[in-house]
Amino acid sequence: MYKCGINGLSRLFGAISEKYTLYAPKKHGVNSVSQFEPYGGGEDLYLSGNTDRGLKELFFPQYEPVARFIEKDGDLTVKEIEKQSGYTVVFGAAACDIKGLEILDLVFLKEPVDEFYKSRREKSIIISLGCDSPSETCFCTCFGVDPGKSGDISAIKSDGFYYFEILTEKGRLLESALASFCEKTDEDIEDQREKIRKRAASMPAAAIGARLTDKKTEEVFDLPLWAKLSEHCLGCGACTYLCPTCQCYDIKDDRTKDGVIRCRFWDSCMYSDFTKMSAGQPRLTQKERYRQRFMHKLVYFRENNGVFGCVGCGRCVRKCPSSLHILKVIKEISENER
Ligand code: SF4
Ligand code: SF4
Repeated sequence: MYKCGINGLSRLFGAISEKYTLYAPKKHGVNSVSQFEPYGGGEDLYLSGNTDRGLKELFFPQYEPVARFIEKDGDLTVKEIEKQSGYTVVFGAAACDIKGLEILDLVFLKEPVDEFYKSRREKSIIISLGCDSPSETCFCTCFGVDPGKSGDISAIKSDGFYYFEILTEKGRLLESALASFCEKTDEDIEDQREKIRKRAASMPAAAIGARLTDKKTEEVFDLPLWAKLSEHCLGCGACTYLCPTCQCYDIKDDRTKDGVIRCRFWDSCMYSDFTKMSAGQPRLTQKERYRQRFMHKLVYFRENNGVFGCVGCGRCVRKCPSSLHILKVIKEISENER
């Protein structure tokens, strides 16, 4: 274990960013949105719980080119898009977002493997930060997330110091930087971690999340709650875009001056044209679309993969303009009988 004073963090970051691209959470801009951005040195960091925009976009960007076709003299040649080769380091990730990546792994690293996602996952070192400011909408502990310890390196802030514990082989790549800019210590920080866990588990949302059930598709699909809750859904897609586990995308070809670029971009099951095919739209009403999103998180994903497709980050609870979030669905499922 290593420790450094709060003022020593920028020297450590300076050493890390000499060798790697370093991302850290910041909050600025007109709308004051917190998100992960490259660290250039000297900026104020946002280290108060999970960010508005999550870790997901560093691994599965909102928009990315996946192929390029160059047109010359009537012929088309395919130009490969480069995958990530150098390592990136992410500091300040919340444990719920790291768990979100584990859910995405179940989708993108399964055959056929998504090579763009895989290269980013393999070439990243994630330093979690013990979440000592959970929000009232957080319920990560209901999904087995440990807000006090996760990632390749676990960092904890306590009494004016940052403590770093290396947890994986990838984390060891930063050991020389830690050894140069921090002091080695055998202090026990388990009490601090336990406080973090208890605080997260005491959030009001966690009491509702604790009502999660493992009901099967046939027990939930036709419940009256879907019509009742979806009535005011705007179909805006905010809940899907901000969710660390939502992974649907569409593919589109755009004309360029010398050919075509094929790109993929996030899509949302809340949109009326989502998965629309020549044979028609499989989910015609907003009720069906709303049900799809929450059935996928709470029933289908668990039936197919053995884990829920939600990590309790609370973003959809905070950001849904109509307050039709997943906690309401969990509560209704636990109370409703067909
Ligand atoms: S549930 Fe809320 S955030 Fe999601 S699409 Fe409907 S209105 Fe938008
Ligand atoms: S469904 Fe809502 S609470 Fe669950 S992981 Fe997604 S955004 Fe977070």
